Amino acid sequence: MSIAENITKVRQTMDRAAAEHGRDPTSVRLLAVSKTFAAEAVIQAADSGQIAFGENYLQEAIDKQQAVHSLRPDLSLEWHFIGPIQSNKTRPIAEHFAWVHALDREKIARRLSEQRPQDLPPLNVCLQVNVSGEDSKSGVAPAEVLALAQVVTILPGLSLRGLMAIPEPADDFESQRKPFALLRALQQQLTEAGIPTDTLSMGMSADMHAAIAEGATIVRIGTSIFGKRDYAN
Ligand SMILES: *Cc1c(COP(=O)(O)O)cnc(C)c1O
Repeated sequence: MSIAENITKVRQTMDRAAAEHGRDPTSVRLLAVSKTFAAEAVIQAADSGQIAFGENYLQEAIDKQQAVHSLRPDLSLEWHFIGPIQSNKTRPIAEHFAWVHALDREKIARRLSEQRPQDLPPLNVCLQVNVSGEDSKSGVAPAEVLALAQVVTILPGLSLRGLMAIPEPADDFESQRKPFALLRALQQQLTEAGIPTDTLSMGMSADMHAAIAEGATIVRIGTSIFGKRDYAN
């Protein structure tokens, strides 16, 4: 199947999942995760109407953005940085992306805000929450989400959009839903504390349906669009 056909299929699955759970299908956005795939794959997806692309590795992402731009200067894409953020890489991230999904430390937040170029709108950010307990190294603990949100929300170079999670893989639907429900509850807690947000970045190829059931507004899909990744390249 072509990338165009895969995107059509993913969008249909998203629409069906939304309808099944009483949600407006237009309230769920598709982020195409293009890590390890070439600029040509991004262009094929863009020609099927895809606008938002997610990347995890900074140098790969910047090279790809430049390659896409030189091949197709007519395309206006929205790039999301979804990987872990090292503090010595904040400047290029602040310069080259519209969104960051995995913010989990105050120090990184302050650097991104300071380094966001003045001529760009504030960087859209999601706080990554560790919804799977001790096993996972990244993400802020659920009990610390509010404190971090209170800091981030006043930084001038950032726009706090919501929360993001990467739960431990689970096979059955009900187990997949639990961490997503927790993320939704944490977002509700922020709203009640006077910090309303509009984004839940949750759901990947294997658990997209459960994420949409629990209120995902951005699903981050790689494999179902581009195929299996080969890290040897
Ligand atoms: C790679 C990646 C994805 C996409 O995963 P698939 O299972 O290929 O859909 C989504 N989110 C993050 C943070 C990723 O690193």
